[in-house]
Amino acid sequence: MKRILLLGATGSIGLQTIDVIEQHPDLFELVGVVAGNKVQQLNEIIEKHPSIQVVGIGNEQFKDQIHHKKVYSGNHAMVDCIENCDYDLLVNAVVGFRGLKPTLVSLKKGKDVALANKESLVAGGMLVRQTLKETNTKLYPIDSEHSAIFQCLQGNDISQVKRLIITASGGSFRDKTREELKEVTVEQTLKHPNWSMGKRITVDSATMVNKGFEVIEAHFLFGLDYDQIDTVLHQESIVHSMVEYIDHAIMAQMGSADMRLPIQYAIQYPDRLSLKEEHPFDATKTINLHFKEMDFERYPMLRLAYEVGRKEGNLGAVFNGADEQAVELFLEEKISFLQIEESIEKAIQQAQYIEYPSYQQLEESDLWAREFVKSLWD
Ligand code: MG
Repeated sequence: MKRILLLGATGSIGLQTIDVIEQHPDLFELVGVVAGNKVQQLNEIIEKHPSIQVVGIGNEQFKDQIHHKKVYSGNHAMVDCIENCDYDLLVNAVVGFRGLKPTLVSLKKGKDVALANKESLVAGGMLVRQTLKETNTKLYPIDSEHSAIFQCLQGNDISQVKRLIITASGGSFRDKTREELKEVTVEQTLKHPNWSMGKRITVDSATMVNKGFEVIEAHFLFGLDYDQIDTVLHQESIVHSMVEYIDHAIMAQMGSADMRLPIQYAIQYPDRLSLKEEHPFDATKTINLHFKEMDFERYPMLRLAYEVGRKEGNLGAVFNGADEQAVELFLEEKISFLQIEESIEKAIQQAQYIEYPSYQQLEESDLWAREFVKSLWD
């Protein structure tokens, strides 16, 4: 029985993780859950899973409303739960920079992590890589593109990989020109054509910041140079990503847009588990698949991500912090869609570069980027 501690339990990935756990009660046991502020949903999960030892809630004021005897609250709740829970695998499905610390703490404790929190690698990739090496622990990707790559790598030697090809749907505005982007609203941005996801990642898909993050994530997960990581536009999101080998054989992983597959592959690797899906991909019934060269002029954030990734240091933390803040301002309708990009570009230009940042310095870089973006639009 694998004991799972789940961070971000009431988010989109968190709830689907619980679904996978509930479908396989003979394999998994939920032993800890942490959420930000959705008390009612958290209490429902606690009621259904008597195996839960510890509960965390980010928002202090809800602590007394949680129906459990062991509750941690506040900014430190995730780390408190990690330190006070007997678990085998951490599922980190938190959104944002705040997910980095729990990843590091769990790895240092010798516990593997199934990772949906891409910021752990975007902001703290160098620290995570070093910690993995020191502790002999493992990261299992939950992000659909990285899960696809991970699946395509099975049985092959990474040294025989020519390149990774990450597919990108193009987001909500893939048919719009940059000129047309000046006018787009929050409501339009939140309508993703293929995937139903949280708000931030939906905005990040439209700006292509998300794909940029995924390039950096792939670099750290698979240890390949940026020259070996490509992106391609693929509007149907059926091919979740590909691996090209040195003999030009290309392996692709295909399927419908159901995140439970990457989740269950990550938490029960290398085994595959049955999955009840209403509309599995069927090649005989599906529309044509299209692939188009990535357009870096149309999506400048992706080009910037390659630059940031190559320079390493604290720039990933700045990139992410600026984006988190800018997306928040955009969702509050305080800045326009294109001002998200402008915020990030300026933050990267103005940031003080630190080549080998400590965790503390990453935290400072993150905070600096947020304050910088806020001050831009005050
Ligand atoms: Mg993804």
